[in-house]
Amino acid sequence: MAGPLTVGVVAETAPGERRVALVPKLAERLAGRGLRVVIEPGAGSRAGLPDELYTAAGAELGAGASGGDAADPRRSDIVLTVTPPSEEDIARLTAGTVLIGFLDPLGAPERVQALDSAGIVALAVESIPRISRAQAMDALSSQANVSGYRAALLAAQLAPRFFPMLTTAAGTVPPATVLVLGAGVAGLQALATAKRLGAQATGYDVRPEVAEQVRSVGAQWLDLGIEAIGDGGYARELTDDERAEQQRRLTEAISGFDVVITTALVPGRTAPTLVTADAVRGMRPGSVVVDLAGATGGNCELTQPGEDVDVGGVTISSPLNLPAGMPLHASELYARNLVELIELLVDSEGRFAIDPADEIVAGACVAGRPEEVA
Ligand code: NAD
Repeated sequence: MAGPLTVGVVAETAPGERRVALVPKLAERLAGRGLRVVIEPGAGSRAGLPDELYTAAGAELGAGASGGDAADPRRSDIVLTVTPPSEEDIARLTAGTVLIGFLDPLGAPERVQALDSAGIVALAVESIPRISRAQAMDALSSQANVSGYRAALLAAQLAPRFFPMLTTAAGTVPPATVLVLGAGVAGLQALATAKRLGAQATGYDVRPEVAEQVRSVGAQWLDLGIEAIGDGGYARELTDDERAEQQRRLTEAISGFDVVITTALVPGRTAPTLVTADAVRGMRPGSVVVDLAGATGGNCELTQPGEDVDVGGVTISSPLNLPAGMPLHASELYARNLVELIELLVDSEGRFAIDPADEIVAGACVAGRPEEVA
């Protein structure tokens, strides 16, 4: 009989990435199911998780990127990653391996093609359907929560003012006013965090059903009278006329806020422009825009992805990977998402039991043939 399935965890190599795809307590959960866990040395170190914690949890240390006698985590039955593999990473994987991670299938279809040609069964966490049964596997949401939280903290840090109202012997300051554009998972967390910091928070989205969720975190709802409901609970792209009208109405609204946090995305598309150059010019000096959509072009016309820029006294910040800045909890939540998915793929004896017709497997699988994995 074949030995137990091996789960390999690679050290992330993307610049600035500090997360790791598996944390010790979840390595222990996998080991408890009879799986062999092999971790690349140092994989967790930038998240504050030294190798010893993994070995104490029942994982074994594999060979590092430069090779060695120990098992290569990339030659495991299941390989876990946070960020998409590079061409060199793909070349080091073995045909038949199940690769699980953020693979950006819509943004980089050529990578998916390369994985398919290499015979890798690639499960992209972005493509897991957002159904109730898959909630615990929803890595987009777990990481968006981190991004929203960190975006509000970043805005508070960049603003030249307090977020809360303060009454002191030296005078009273009013609370900061924060507008969040796009009230999905990241937006709602940004609103809740701004509110906890004492700001007056307002949310806006093109999906009207979000109004109630915005109010439930103690924020106000900005109604601009433009709706764009798409498939699967996502927003659709606006028509040209709707976009022009939205920008006009938003430009008027934005000038009244100290901080604007933007999180609006449409899957597989360039991010919509919600904050025009005119809107930025209409903001008071000292105002702050934090744009979470920089990786897909930005929601602000003047955003420079990955940079902080000053336009007439308005700071526009476009952080590209906020979860990497909070790697411990971001990794813990992400690892939990992955382990839930792995548990769907293996039986109680720790052997593959993949049902290719399962809605979650079928949705997540962007390359390879899961029916051939046994
Ligand atoms: P997202 O990151 O794709 O987009 C962020 C927000 O931007 C969305 O709320 C979207 O409506 C909004 N947006 C897009 N274009 C806009 C525009 N032109 N103007 C203003 N706002 C715009 O969204 P997300 O956080 O991934 O959530 C997407 C959907 O998935 C939501 O319906 C959410 O409730 C749902 N969801 C479901 C589950 C589940 O059931 N398991 C889990 C998480 C999210």
